[in-house]
Amino acid sequence: MSIHNVLVVNAGSSSLKFMLFDMVSEKMLAKGQVERIGIGRSLFSYSTEGFSEKQVPCEAPDHTSAVQLACNALIAPEKGGCLKALSDIDAVGHRIVHGGEKYSTPVLLTEEAQAEIVKLIPLAPLHNPASLQGVKGCEHVLPGVPHVGIFDTAFHQTMPEESYLYGLPRVLHEKLGVRKYGFHGTSHKFVTQRAAEVLGKPVETVNLVTCHLGNGSSITAVKDGKCWDTSMGMTPLAGVMMGTRSGDFDPAIVLYLLKNGYTAEAIDKLINKESGVLALGGTGSSDMRDLCAARERGESAAQLAMARLVHSYAMYVGGYVAQLGHVDAIVMTGGIGENSWETREALVKAISGLGVTLDVEVNRMCRGSEATISGSDSAIPVMVLPTNEELMIARETFTLLSK
Ligand code: AMP
Repeated sequence: MSIHNVLVVNAGSSSLKFMLFDMVSEKMLAKGQVERIGIGRSLFSYSTEGFSEKQVPCEAPDHTSAVQLACNALIAPEKGGCLKALSDIDAVGHRIVHGGEKYSTPVLLTEEAQAEIVKLIPLAPLHNPASLQGVKGCEHVLPGVPHVGIFDTAFHQTMPEESYLYGLPRVLHEKLGVRKYGFHGTSHKFVTQRAAEVLGKPVETVNLVTCHLGNGSSITAVKDGKCWDTSMGMTPLAGVMMGTRSGDFDPAIVLYLLKNGYTAEAIDKLINKESGVLALGGTGSSDMRDLCAARERGESAAQLAMARLVHSYAMYVGGYVAQLGHVDAIVMTGGIGENSWETREALVKAISGLGVTLDVEVNRMCRGSEATISGSDSAIPVMVLPTNEELMIARETFTLLSK
């Protein structure tokens, strides 16, 4: 099957982001998003070569109408005329959060595959239904086009049992699927492949610690090009501290709070939406830029929050380096990893016991571009590699359908 143009769709419960790629050149041809789907006052943003519009009011009562808006824009001559006709879209790649133990690779989204994703809804009650709404919307607007699912959990399915099992009775894994799954897999895979290219080594020979640091963050140990362990768990709450998520904490605290009058819903909100940088930083914001500015002004809460955040990163990086033995590179990516030189500087300082050093100037200059920020005497190279999850989804879609 000849695949040229791939549309990448990332559907949330009330939003739908899309990007169109020419897979011959891997060039991004257009991108956009529909916000506030199904909740009124919907907004549409779109850009392609020579055209851009931002947050224009639109009608998007459901995901199908959102896909229709996206497709109308792609073929509208007055909006840059990116495509001549919708028949120029050869395939759609869908980001799907949870593939459970079933999916370790991309899959053609047949009726059967979609039924399997429905079965995984208990593991991702907010995300998988939204992804499926995006798939249904695209099937409606683009009939006859192959749809491929790419799972955030897939890259992590190579974890050995000693990485993914919790210290809990095995029956919980067997009966309820309680285990570590990991997330951000598409990003960890993208930077793993890119790091191998930069290092000039075949991907199946690289050992890395990849740090996807953004509003949500996860750190992955990559052994021989495959995931060996990762910081997020059964849900994206576990691991390092994040913008509004607590990261790891003593699970018995949940019981303590329940006994002290908190409801399960209140605890859910507390640990997912009201914790992390937002809770500790004292700025009323979960945004790293606000935290760094407050820290620069000498605000003590911001200094503490930054120290706590970096401490949690260093715990994982250090633990993974120790267990991997040889590490070809520590990679930083995501909004914070790519842009926040302050956080990178603090992290490299925190892991200096590993013999890692920083080129302070190169690190300060690096904003959203590829760079090796470690010093020439560093025991392990430290790289900044911008991630591109959408391109990775387009590549995986292309590869599956080109077989
Ligand atoms: P992501 O979830 O990957 O989009 O990353 C979002 C996070 O990246 C937010 O906390 C932002 O504050 C942070 N970020 C983006 N740009 C910068 C920047 N220039 N400096 C510091 N943090 C940044």
